[in-house]
Amino acid sequence: MSATDSSPSNRLADHDVDSLGSYLHERTSCGLERARRAAAKALRAAFGTDAVGDCRWTDAALIEAGIGQWARPHLLTFDPSLSLALAERAPSEDGTERLLLRTHDDQLIESVLIPAEKGRKRARMTLCISSQVGCARACAFCETGSHGMVRQLAAREIVDQFRIAQRICEADRPVDRRAEAPTPTPPKRGTSANTLPAALRPISNIVFMGMGEPMDNLPRVRDAIALLTTPQAFAFAPSRITVSTVGHADKLATFFESTRAELAISINAPDDTRRSRIMPINDRYDMATLRRVLLEVMPKGRRVLFQYALFADFNDSLDDADLLADYVHGIPCRVNVIPANPGPDPSLTTPAPERVDAFVARLAERGVTTLVRRPRGRDVGGACGQLAGSRREQLVPLKRSKPESP
Ligand code: SF4
Repeated sequence: MSATDSSPSNRLADHDVDSLGSYLHERTSCGLERARRAAAKALRAAFGTDAVGDCRWTDAALIEAGIGQWARPHLLTFDPSLSLALAERAPSEDGTERLLLRTHDDQLIESVLIPAEKGRKRARMTLCISSQVGCARACAFCETGSHGMVRQLAAREIVDQFRIAQRICEADRPVDRRAEAPTPTPPKRGTSANTLPAALRPISNIVFMGMGEPMDNLPRVRDAIALLTTPQAFAFAPSRITVSTVGHADKLATFFESTRAELAISINAPDDTRRSRIMPINDRYDMATLRRVLLEVMPKGRRVLFQYALFADFNDSLDDADLLADYVHGIPCRVNVIPANPGPDPSLTTPAPERVDAFVARLAERGVTTLVRRPRGRDVGGACGQLAGSRREQLVPLKRSKPESP
């Protein structure tokens, strides 16, 4: 992680076992393996029970964690506290909740908590997180893209969206469900189990589909995923994390080499003319290039999720479904069809439900595994393409008082 930047960050959530271990080894010459073991214990002490609040980050706490004097003073130079503050919670009628978060330099970013639709058996809570403040990609249907790019988020700012959301979910969890969770106990020597069993975790999935194009901030996205999937820290399975891109063909190889997280590609149109009209990235990497590169670099056994936002009378005909089916043919994939949400371009509107059904039925006839993602959180501006970040203050004035802590 520290390799991303010239000098190592002193924020603990910028590090995983490798980077923290390297740091300790460089400072103490203790040997890399020993340093890594101490780093793992430190991350467990700092983040293993993060869902219930801040850890004790003191010399005594690190002694309890089994960390020797040789490492403790160095570890205590790191700060495990949150780098974001919760500015607003905007709950939707459908159970979705948009979170507005303030950064240290007074930027605003957004995350969205999306519970499973009512009636689904599996308890599932998806967190949609942001990777940048703003975005340079200027997709026509996206509120974030209409404001341009401000800056990259640090790895800690990506991880801290998860930490804040997890604390909110944990606090909101009914008491009887909380009681099912075992009291965290110090792990046995040589084990890494520290966190709740997957079924009892408040957040089950993470998607990088919030503000920003993750591939434009890939080193920090990769670092954040490394910490989120570190067994001693947040212990998320990589298969439960999905990174979505508009189709940065040049970054796909690096993505697959650096993480086991899932890949989603927003395709959104069945041909280059229409795709370029709504997604300027297509002028750089057209659909044929994207398809060719994907097939070249995608490791065997992996598959990709194509996302297709459906706009009335733009890309929703049966012929368009056929073109899409042709495009994905031969690629191990699934297609998510997303009836469009109201966005900055008034000409891009939501199709009638029967058009959506017919489109999906045609894809199914063509043998494409397809799922319709019904809009969630529209009433609070939390649906796909609606995240506004700093512009939120112009849309709905916020109190400028000190942000509330999660
Ligand atoms: S859809 Fe994603 S990549 Fe496109 S402008 Fe919005 S945030 Fe950026």
